[in-house]
Amino acid sequence: MIRLNDSYERLDETYLFAKVARKVNAWRLSRPDADIVRMDIGDVTRPICGAAIEAMHRAVADLAAASTFHGYGPEQGYAFLREAIAAGDYAERGIDISPDEIFIGDGAKSDIGNFPDILSAADTVALTDPVYPVYADTNVMGGRKRFISLPMIPENGFVPCLPEETPDVVYLCFPNNPTGTLLPRENLRRWVDYCRANGVLLLFDSAYEAYVRTPGAVRSIFEIEGAREVAVEFRSFSKTAGFTGLRCGYTVVPKDLTGRFSDSRKGSLHDLWLRRQTTKFNGASYIVQRAAEALYTPEGREACRVQTDSYIANASLLRESALEAGLYAVGGQDSPYVWVKAPGGMDSWSFFDRLLELGITSTPGSGFGKSGEGFVRLTGFNSEANTREAIERLRRI
Ligand code: PLP
Repeated sequence: MIRLNDSYERLDETYLFAKVARKVNAWRLSRPDADIVRMDIGDVTRPICGAAIEAMHRAVADLAAASTFHGYGPEQGYAFLREAIAAGDYAERGIDISPDEIFIGDGAKSDIGNFPDILSAADTVALTDPVYPVYADTNVMGGRKRFISLPMIPENGFVPCLPEETPDVVYLCFPNNPTGTLLPRENLRRWVDYCRANGVLLLFDSAYEAYVRTPGAVRSIFEIEGAREVAVEFRSFSKTAGFTGLRCGYTVVPKDLTGRFSDSRKGSLHDLWLRRQTTKFNGASYIVQRAAEALYTPEGREACRVQTDSYIANASLLRESALEAGLYAVGGQDSPYVWVKAPGGMDSWSFFDRLLELGITSTPGSGFGKSGEGFVRLTGFNSEANTREAIERLRRI
């Protein structure tokens, strides 16, 4: 008999995107002449910048000659990329992260999903609500059953409160998906202090750090004093540089970070993650890592800034037009996401339907957790022209 992992039976159904697609298709069939503006896109739409494309062409040529051929690379990633990241994303901002604390991967989702492999299956996990569903689902798959919910709602300014019951692990993501909000530095400091005082691991998802524009806002958890003792940071080139299809990201595991095995012996999370990665992962491709390295050249940096600026501009137009239409909306300033409250106490799906009537697609907030009920997420990833069209339609609400 083939025995299955019962935990998969405890996963919530992933009906959200399928249901959105079904409703959009039905709308299209009922109005074959009308067009629809996609404001639910969770993927980038602009092409990869010239600096990265040229680097990939050079890398392909390397692979074509015996003298420059690259086979298996280091599992942790090539030193040229880890050094570029340590210098460009950390040292330049006064943050002490060494290249060998950086692990290159094929995007943040895999690392976020795989990281719990090195943690105890008995852990209690604290998650914000609404939340990027990968944190919850991958812990359920790993057999964890105890979750603490940290609501992020207008009443608390989308700032998750410290929990009454102490978790073993907490996930934070800022700039946040789906709300598009930031966590003020002071609050992050409180979280880091709390984790240090209570022996809690802080898993910080910084996939949208390239969207931070507010001066002084936190881009890396390691800007906060003491974070090296309690935090791991996940980053991605997906939304920074349009690598959603190319696949590259990285995870920072400081060497100071320690935990305990069940017999109380101390263990290094860096050592365990290295062991896990060298056993189960053979590295991101050489070509992709050369592309990522090119993002740290002056041309690459400028291109990333231009791309992210354009998505932020769209998102902030969306937010302003929602506000002008008398709706409550947050995000869209340091983020490609706008979190819009449905008028008149409507629920997320009813508001989704109302927007669809106008030919605008959105993502129902209830799909991100109970506290997302009554909201929809709009994104700035469409073109400016389409965003402006959506705004015209929003005015009719
Ligand atoms: N983290 C958050 C909050 C995200 O929204 C996403 C993608 O949408 C990811 C991580 C994963 O990014 P990737 O696997 O493309 O690097």
